[in-house]
Amino acid sequence: MMKDFILKIAKFMEGRYGIDQLNKALFVLWFILETIWIFTRFWLIGLLVLIVLFLITYRSLSKNIQMRMYENRKFLDLTKRFTAFTDLFSKKWKDRKTHRYIKCPYCKAQLRVKKLRGTHTVHCPKCGEDFKKRIII
Ligand SMILES: [Zn+2]
Repeated sequence: MMKDFILKIAKFMEGRYGIDQLNKALFVLWFILETIWIFTRFWLIGLLVLIVLFLITYRSLSKNIQMRMYENRKFLDLTKRFTAFTDLFSKKWKDRKTHRYIKCPYCKAQLRVKKLRGTHTVHCPKCGEDFKKRIII
């Protein structure tokens, strides 16, 4: 009985797109909107909740895989700068006792250097330039 049900679901999902990063982000958005909706009961938020739910359902059940992949790629491109920023921020936080993240003045690459007090000559592995950096703890 249960097995039949799972098989039916699997058959239904065959050739359908499923979950990607964009759908996960939409799910988070839905959760936030739903929470606001519960507290405010503001009609516009309620409408947005429905739209986002529709988008998630539509995208995950869609059979136009190419188009959904294209949308997801666009979404990842748009959010790349933001995720790069948050990634760097969490790395900085994790390494805060042992390393410093500095920017190469020539090519703007992010470099990770040991946190040692004093003035050091830093060699940038990306552009090959050397520059001086003073580290104050
Ligand atoms: Zn450089």
